[in-house]
Amino acid sequence: MSKTYDAIIIGAGIMGCCTAHELGRRGLSVAVLEKGHIGEGPTGDSLAIIRQHYSNRLTARMAYYGVRVFREFEDRIGGDCGFHQSGFIVLSSESNRKGLESNLAIQKEIGIDTRIISSEELIDLVPGIQLRSGLIAAFEAESGYADAVLTVKAYASSAKQYRVEVFEETEVTGISFSREKVSGVQTSGGEFVAPVVVNCAGAWGARIAAMIGQDIPIDACRTQVSIFSKPDNMMSEFPVVIDFSNGSFIRPYSEESVFGGLVEATESGAVVDPDNYERRADADFLNKVLERLRETWPDLKDSVSIDGYASLYAITPDWHPIIDEVPAGSGFFICSGFSGHGFKLAPAVAQMTADMILHESDPMFDHQAFRLSRFHENDSVEGIYEYSILG
Ligand SMILES: Cc1cc2nc3c(=O)[nH]c(=O)nc-3n(C[C@H](O)[C@H](O)[C@H](O)COP(=O)(O)OP(=O)(O)OC[C@H]3O[C@@H](n4cnc5c(N)ncnc54)[C@H](O)[C@@H]3O)c2cc1C
Repeated sequence: MSKTYDAIIIGAGIMGCCTAHELGRRGLSVAVLEKGHIGEGPTGDSLAIIRQHYSNRLTARMAYYGVRVFREFEDRIGGDCGFHQSGFIVLSSESNRKGLESNLAIQKEIGIDTRIISSEELIDLVPGIQLRSGLIAAFEAESGYADAVLTVKAYASSAKQYRVEVFEETEVTGISFSREKVSGVQTSGGEFVAPVVVNCAGAWGARIAAMIGQDIPIDACRTQVSIFSKPDNMMSEFPVVIDFSNGSFIRPYSEESVFGGLVEATESGAVVDPDNYERRADADFLNKVLERLRETWPDLKDSVSIDGYASLYAITPDWHPIIDEVPAGSGFFICSGFSGHGFKLAPAVAQMTADMILHESDPMFDHQAFRLSRFHENDSVEGIYEYSILG
């Protein structure tokens, strides 16, 4: 027998669970359908860095909101998200000073606590780091990183206090339409009925949309992370550092090890089958990460790669998500394609998506900038200034 809900969400990653929590809080009955297990997809692999350094007002506002939710998670959502307020540092070339300052001005206007710091202050904050000549640093005190698995499970568990049910090992295989409106889905566990279906399937988002004949520009792309040994004299807690001058980043991990990776946006060229790709990191990637980080952290000279893995980014042409009802009035909503920087935005995305579904006249965050049609209207989401980073 089919089960009936106000809304069905496809995918129990951070977007599916966060959105289900918000819709449940607003009184809707919701079924979250997940082919695997909660957070088992790319969300569970996320480094969950929570920075507010964005180069456009909307995403900076969303990140600012996210930081407040992560910092007050127990009171606002319930449970533990493993947030560490380690701080966050951007290193950039002196030639980008004007752009960096412009970004900081946007961020400050929103209320983000961010500023350019001197090399002395940088060394105080991160002993062992070396500000190479020609670089400048900006610092956000309130940012940091969370634990992605704890967070997604906390959202799913807290959502159950409302009329939200999560069905694991339940793969959506088809979507039903009746008179141009969505009416439910078929799954490996039977039929589910609802007038609203939300595609939160991330890197599988285009496959879900294809079930109703839609062609949406989301590629499943392979990305890699490195884990390497922490030198004895490196603190176990230090600010996350992104170095845009050489495209590298470092994040605390454990007493013995740290995470590292590259910020190059080359992932868009690594399109893979999301159900069949190499999960081990490449040896040359691991070497490259250490080489680049050593330019700024000479103490890493004796560090060795301990491990690494590959996962998926769901990448759109402008590296921003698609959040839209397509076709308009159909009850089929897309909330996918977060292109490697969605985790921190999830609390704001849940507000945005719930407001869109419920046709709120005064949404907290307007989804229009993320509408699907922007791609053929030549109205992609871009940073306002030349110096722009992902987002
Ligand atoms: C290695 C890595 C590091 C990252 N680091 C950061 C970071 O530091 N900061 C940050 O903000 N962001 C980061 N991100 C990005 C962020 O984690 C993602 O944007 C976010 O997790 C995407 O969540 P999602 O819910 O959209 O997708 P997913 O986590 O992919 O969830 C989609 C779910 O849909 C399910 N699904 C697919 N098809 C079906 C079907 N037919 N039926 C039922 N279920 C289905 C999948 O199994 C999956 O669980 C990182 C991502 C990766 C991979």
